[in-house]
Amino acid sequence: MTDHYNVISKQSAQNKRIVMRVDFNVPMQDGKILDDTRIKRVIPGIKTLLECSKQLILVTHLGRPKGNVDNTLSSQPIQEYLGKALSMPVRFILHIEDPSQLSEAVDSHDKICLLENCRFYAGEERNDQNLARAYASLADIYVNDAFSCSHRSHASIQAITGFLPSYAGPVLAAELTALSDVLESPKRPVAAFVGGAKISTKLSVLENLISKVDKLLLAGAMANTFLAAKQIPVAASLYEPDLIPTAKMISELAQQQGCEIILPVDGVVSTKLKKGGRFHTRLNGALEDNEMILDIGPASVALFKEHIKDCKTILWNGPAGYFENPNFANGSIEIAKTIIKNNKLNKIFSVVGGGDTVSLLNSIKAVDGFNFVSTAGGAFLEYLEGKKLPGIKALNQ
Ligand code: ADP
Ligand code: MG
Repeated sequence: MTDHYNVISKQSAQNKRIVMRVDFNVPMQDGKILDDTRIKRVIPGIKTLLECSKQLILVTHLGRPKGNVDNTLSSQPIQEYLGKALSMPVRFILHIEDPSQLSEAVDSHDKICLLENCRFYAGEERNDQNLARAYASLADIYVNDAFSCSHRSHASIQAITGFLPSYAGPVLAAELTALSDVLESPKRPVAAFVGGAKISTKLSVLENLISKVDKLLLAGAMANTFLAAKQIPVAASLYEPDLIPTAKMISELAQQQGCEIILPVDGVVSTKLKKGGRFHTRLNGALEDNEMILDIGPASVALFKEHIKDCKTILWNGPAGYFENPNFANGSIEIAKTIIKNNKLNKIFSVVGGGDTVSLLNSIKAVDGFNFVSTAGGAFLEYLEGKKLPGIKALNQ
């Protein structure tokens, strides 16, 4: 499923007016940006394009205004951020009721403009052709640098590609390359470490992964359902009893396809989620009825480390435990440290993604230790499911 898309180059951007979809959907409070990770990433690409293009028009969404003007979700606070980051004035284009008049609002002398939240238009989420045509009327070419939005068939992601020559932006291209280096043409052996809360939401991810990876390391609450499927009691732990047959089916499929599934052999358990509760290490099967497995135990950490050491490529999604309580963060931290150590020695290529996984890594300042950290939530998971993302598919045509 190799993608064939054109990546924007200085040559293709030369003297062009560019409309570029970015993901500036950043956490904000009272007009203040709380986390600028997503914006920071695209700044170098924006600078390069500013050097060669005639004009750059940025389009983003922010939150879920559902087609209504909601000033608390205005993208205007990002104007100031961009101005500082780029050391140049950035024109903010206020919302215009009738999008066909957008082109009149954009002055050709402004080097860089930021449009108001595109989801103020109901047509955005409807993938409306007229809205897409209105965006397209602002430019000569279109660039998508928002991988995290590319699982959406929205006007500024999908429909617009029908009106302009379309390119992948540098960050989107890097994300796709990293993901394909893991799933399409990895250095083997390749492992996936999957943790987190629910099998039900990641079922198709597991199904797709077992056909791609040599080892599937399962941890977190995700592993509990697999333990239960092997008749290992998980007592009061979070697990999904309805999905025991599914866990069995996945285990069988994995065996047929030569993918080894590795489960924890012990856990850190407690009767309470909250801080301050007592906790113990228990081997599988030794839980009391009211205890929950909240982290992988030391023997599991050692086991997973051995498997990780054997691998040349690793993909990680989902924490190994209930890391929100520091008593149960150790497993995830140890896994992170192991990957980072092998990464430094150039022994392993590592890609990590997932909202909670990345916030865990941010909290221990470990994001720089991986080859690629995906900030995309839904799009990352859909890619791991093996789905074709509409925004990427649109670039292929
Ligand atoms: P991501 O956002 O990285 O894709 P998920 O949303 O699937 O990850 O899962 C993250 C959540 O899983 C976290 O809130 C974490 O506390 C929880 N979790 C992980 N292991 C356990 C466990 N053993 N028991 C309860 N919750 C767990
Ligand atoms: Mg999550």
